[in-house]
Amino acid sequence: MKAETCSRIENLTAEIDGKTILNGLTLEVGAGEVHAIMGPNGAGKSTLSYVLAGREGYEVKGGSVTLDGVDLLAMAPHERAAAGVFLGMQYPVEIPGVSNLLFLRTALNAQRTLRGEPEISGADFMKAMKAAAADMGLDFEMMKRSVNQGFSGGEKKRNEMIQMAMLKPKLALLDETDSGLDIDALRVVADGINKMRSPDRATLLITHYQRLLDHVQPDRVHVLMAGRIVRSGGPELALELEAEGYARIAAEAGLANITDAAA
Ligand code: ADP
Ligand code: MG
Repeated sequence: MKAETCSRIENLTAEIDGKTILNGLTLEVGAGEVHAIMGPNGAGKSTLSYVLAGREGYEVKGGSVTLDGVDLLAMAPHERAAAGVFLGMQYPVEIPGVSNLLFLRTALNAQRTLRGEPEISGADFMKAMKAAAADMGLDFEMMKRSVNQGFSGGEKKRNEMIQMAMLKPKLALLDETDSGLDIDALRVVADGINKMRSPDRATLLITHYQRLLDHVQPDRVHVLMAGRIVRSGGPELALELEAEGYARIAAEAGLANITDAAA
């Protein structure tokens, strides 16, 4: 039976180096939905994506996270990935000496093995990689180079989308995927996100700007401040933020100023 809610985060509290960053964060993303998370610098947006993915150094102090009813927080990062969590990072890392092809084939097969599925054949893998690179407007030759090494900012972001297309996550966390993109690249990446909308995928788009949301219509928009969701609304909320900034919402949430809005 298919769970009704794809991803449910309840009252999540997490800290790093003894500092509380997420503070009672509650959020539900239904299967098939795209939600945007906006918020001022330092609000805890990247921290949320790291805690969901299971990055080392973050200590969960309370709350729960489930994906299709399964407890994510009890799993190691690689198990979460096999369960369907994907993190498109704000600052994609370079992996010198490991080609994109080797990296993705290894990741994909490790996930499949953990799920009890057979490994992908070499031919099927290459075919899927060629299609994914073409969709993102990257020359396939780049897939033979080391992961992100020497890639421009925009190419790194496109490469994150290629990884997502290959791994087909259930929960996609895209952290500022739009940052550093010129207008053409923004459109390519937005098209990629739209194309990957699927009834069995939930997507969290972390973004500073309305401009990505001009191309990717979110089902819901949430404002993250001081480590929790202080306001949720429809796509119009993003337009309101663009016009007014965060000051009013901060005041309504009982935060004295935007500086306090940081965790
Ligand atoms: P956002 O992505 O919303 O801009 P982040 O999640 O990156 O915010 O950061 C949230 C807060 O966590 C910031 O105040 C940041 O300084 C703090 N932070 C991040 N890493 C550490 C760390 N290692 N030790 C202490 N504070 C940290
Ligand atoms: Mg961030």
